[in-house]
Amino acid sequence: MKTTIQYDRKERAYRVLDAETGEVLSQHPQGPEGRYQAERAVIASDAPHVLPLADNLAHQYPEAVSRAHKAALLVARGAVRPNGATDVYYVASETDLPTVYLVDLPKGTCGCEDFYQGRQGEPHGAPNVDGRLVCKHVLAASFFLSQRATENRKILWPDFGDGLD
Ligand SMILES: [Zn+2]
Repeated sequence: MKTTIQYDRKERAYRVLDAETGEVLSQHPQGPEGRYQAERAVIASDAPHVLPLADNLAHQYPEAVSRAHKAALLVARGAVRPNGATDVYYVASETDLPTVYLVDLPKGTCGCEDFYQGRQGEPHGAPNVDGRLVCKHVLAASFFLSQRATENRKILWPDFGDGLD
């Protein structure tokens, strides 16, 4: 199912809708926590395999919590597309839709500003987790790969605990 989030000003609540029928699937209070729960509902609906991957990652690496959530949302929104080369993906920007970043999973690289800042060692840049820089696009491509392929698991990182072994 494809879902979308709407903010209802009158009810002061976020609503998760079936994008085709407009049926209200769930409602969440205004504010950051309500928004977060609405986004989790979208992930659970549109990319159910990704939710436990993101949760496991966030549990293991608290410094990656917000990027793991945003990455899962990117997968749910269909922002990840293979580019034709093995394990190389285009990932659409979360904030600026016409922008697309190239993520090379074997090299562990992304073309976004967050990744660049992480590489420069800036404190607010992509965190270095277990030897890899993880912006939300790198994580989104990893989640995308892990939900559809098993033959390429050798490059998966980290072990998301998806139970496929
Ligand atoms: Zn990135």
